Amino acid sequence: MSKRPKYVKPEHREILTAQVLASKRISPNFVRVTLGGEGLAGFTAMGFDQWFRLFMPGRDGSLKLPTSASTLGWYAQYLMMGKEHRPLVRNYTVRDYRAAGFGEFGSTAEIDIDFFSHGDDSPASSWATGATPGDKVGLLDEGITYQAPENTEWSLLVGDESAVPGIAGILRSAPRDLKGAAYLEIPNSEDAQELDAPAGVEVHWLIRTDPNAEVGSVVAEAVRGQEIPGTGVYAFVAGEQKLASGLRRHWTQERGIPKADITFTGYWRVGKAAG
Ligand SMILES: Cc1cc2nc3c(=O)[nH]c(=O)nc-3n(C[C@H](O)[C@H](O)[C@H](O)COP(=O)(O)OP(=O)(O)OC[C@H]3O[C@@H](n4cnc5c(N)ncnc54)[C@H](O)[C@@H]3O)c2cc1C
Repeated sequence: MSKRPKYVKPEHREILTAQVLASKRISPNFVRVTLGGEGLAGFTAMGFDQWFRLFMPGRDGSLKLPTSASTLGWYAQYLMMGKEHRPLVRNYTVRDYRAAGFGEFGSTAEIDIDFFSHGDDSPASSWATGATPGDKVGLLDEGITYQAPENTEWSLLVGDESAVPGIAGILRSAPRDLKGAAYLEIPNSEDAQELDAPAGVEVHWLIRTDPNAEVGSVVAEAVRGQEIPGTGVYAFVAGEQKLASGLRRHWTQERGIPKADITFTGYWRVGKAAG
């Protein structure tokens, strides 16, 4: 049997341009930025946890975009630009997509991004807080990582706050007869969102009330104590690196879930800037 690819990549790769149409704080720790503009005509929505590289203005305040969209090509061009002129590049998830003509703010397609706010010294998080209509960005679609095998009977979805948009998208795109459970850790109960989950998926919001607790520790403990079916489980975890790798180890070593039936992605790492 051929091995499943790790990601479902978009068929077409191109760095698209977009502009901020709106930005608002939707809960204590999340800012929603809506992108639009004619450049989004080239974007193909895939649903699930579709993610992309977001190019924001660099240190000199201008937005210079690579012209190559190949994995090595854009990065080589980025390095050639020199530190002052490079764009700020970070990874984000499509929280919502509205096709042209169905937008809330204009006639072009629209993409909502939910940024978790985690401090003024974090460039992307700060950019979102200060984003104003007309600000320009670039976007490179990277596709989806959620890949439940065909024989999945039960899905387990786990994430910290950075994975709320991804898990929200998975729940909205999943077949309506999906069975399973979703565990999401957030720092404040008011950061919980309405999710369009299949009726057979229980959604658990775990609140990290202790400000000194490690991100991911609350959800990891809840998941470790959970009963799961003996077979047919597909497990997905995204968020802080230790949460993702720790749960993968637990699932393979203590729950017998085959590695091929697990998708784990470190979205960020404590104490380490992504750039
Ligand atoms: C595929 C993918 C999809 C993602 N989707 C989203 C999304 O939709 N929404 C979202 O908010 N994030 C998302 N992330 C995570 C996001 O890319 C990182 O949090 C990124 O590091 C933020 O960049 P920054 O410039 O704000 O901070 P950085 O400059 O990267 O980091 C600065 C400091 O902040 C810390 N830090 C970084 N992220 C967090 C965090 N989430 N919580 C607490 N501290 C943090 C770092 O450890 C570092 O000390 C995604 C990541 C990936 C890989």
